[in-house]
Amino acid sequence: MLRLRGHHLICLNFFSGEGYDDIFIENLKDVLERAETENVEICDEADEICEKCPYLKDYKCQFDEHADEEIKEMDDTALNLLAIRKNSIVCWDKIKGNMPEIFPQWFRKYCIECDWKKACEKNHYYQRLRNKSI
Ligand code: SF4
Repeated sequence: MLRLRGHHLICLNFFSGEGYDDIFIENLKDVLERAETENVEICDEADEICEKCPYLKDYKCQFDEHADEEIKEMDDTALNLLAIRKNSIVCWDKIKGNMPEIFPQWFRKYCIECDWKKACEKNHYYQRLRNKSI
C-alpha cells in the first residue's frame, strides 16, 4: 500500500517528468505506477515522495525556513477539499475523479505562487483544469 500526504494527492496528478534530481524523479514515476494498482493510505507527515526528496531532513521539509508548516497547511487544505480523512485508505481513481471539481479552489489558493508551476504547466491535464479555473 502507498503512503501519501494530502497535497501530493493533488499535485502528483500533474507530474511532467521534472523534479529535484534523478532519484526523486524515478521515485515519482514509481509512485504513480503503484497508485494505479495499490490503495493509498493517507498520512500527515513525510510520505513516500518526501522520503526521496533532498530537502527532507530529520523527517521535516527544509526547503526553506517555513516550508514544513506551509506544506502541512497545504495537506490539510487538500484533504478538506477532497473530503478525505487522515489515516484513511483511498483509491487513486476516486482522487482523480474528484480533481475537476476541487481544482479551481486549489489553483487559486496555491498554484499561482508555486515554485513548480512551470513544470505543471507542461502537463496537458493541468492545462485543461487550469483553463477552466481562470
Ligand atoms: S502548481 Fe504547485 S500547487 Fe499547483 S498543482 Fe502544481 S505543484 Fe501543486
